[in-house]
Amino acid sequence: MLNINQSRMNEVIQEAFNKTSNLRWQMAITKARAELEANPYMHYDGHALLILSPSGEIYSANGACQCKAFSHGQPCWHRAAARLIERYNEAQ
Ligand SMILES: [Zn+2]
Repeated sequence: MLNINQSRMNEVIQEAFNKTSNLRWQMAITKARAELEANPYMHYDGHALLILSPSGEIYSANGACQCKAFSHGQPCWHRAAARLIERYNEAQ
């Protein structure tokens, strides 16, 4: 479980959400938000966000990801979550 100040993270999420008009990214951000709140198997190593997905897969997300969505050039919540954590850390 990541140690996150929820109200600060909510600001970062809102900002990210407002910045994109891409519906898929907005869906990815929404999913990332839920996972950041509930998924205990996430670890940020300073470079990438390691995620044990509810699907049982392990992903290491930063600009890239190993999931199916990424291989099809689509937004995924793993990258959205990694970016949110990055932004959150920058804003500290
Ligand atoms: Zn992914």
